[in-house]
Amino acid sequence: GRREVPLVEVRGIGVRFGGLQALDEVSFAVGQGEFVSVIGPNGAGKSTLFNVISGVQRPTSGEVLFDGEPVRRSRPDLVHARGVGRTFQVARPIGSLTVRDNVLLGAGGHRLRGVLSSLRPRSRDRALQLRVDELLELAGLTAVAHRPASEISPGDLRRMEIARALGDEPRLVLLDEPAAGVGSDGLTPLAELLGRIRERGVAVLLVEHYVGLALSLSDRAVVLNRGRLLAVGDPDEIRGNQAVIDAYLGT
Ligand code: ADP
Ligand code: MG
Repeated sequence: GRREVPLVEVRGIGVRFGGLQALDEVSFAVGQGEFVSVIGPNGAGKSTLFNVISGVQRPTSGEVLFDGEPVRRSRPDLVHARGVGRTFQVARPIGSLTVRDNVLLGAGGHRLRGVLSSLRPRSRDRALQLRVDELLELAGLTAVAHRPASEISPGDLRRMEIARALGDEPRLVLLDEPAAGVGSDGLTPLAELLGRIRERGVAVLLVEHYVGLALSLSDRAVVLNRGRLLAVGDPDEIRGNQAVIDAYLGT
């Protein structure tokens, strides 16, 4: 049969910040519904890679393809329209809104963002309400749904961000360090949510310092070190890769 076109293909991506080569000739692909971890030490270029894929950062060289088509301009709105959702390393909630309304904003799509006045008419839409309820349930947030986002725990906040990113049914979500700051209480519900996303067949690119957690969920992992691709493989290959072990243990 015909070879399946990857959902996303990163081709020879380079990003230079002045004298610093943050990414250098990075290439890999993510298939439909595939769960791929991006691991590597601090400064390896993981967040920069996410910024390139999501259209926030223009690469100095190379290109990103969605469904085999290059994204000609680095524009987050165009990338989002192709079905890519994301969270940020530092959470960006709207603290004064309830958890439910934050998730509603995600479910309303990018058209709604920043247009709070349009929340009211949209919120009467029954299908949208059901979808928001389902997302809250999926993320284990039903009990805190009516609390202001500024008052919930760091773990709940991270899952709220993910629920928001899932809101308009992306085909790929980019999750940048979702376990950062969640504490030991937050890890189990987060791992459960990530597992459920995986079951739904949404492709995931996950950056996570809890490498054990990341690999336990992943089909494959991409390892970056100082902007370069150190290894790509399934979790067992990555765990046994000497170059990966060396990069993590330091030089
Ligand atoms: P990671 O997420 O793997 O920790 P980053 O992608 O955030 O790494 O950063 C990779 C390198 O690029 C780091 O050395 C960082 O300081 C640098 N960097 C990231 N963003 C910028 C920027 N906007 N301007 C200059 N340097 C940057
Ligand atoms: Mg980072």
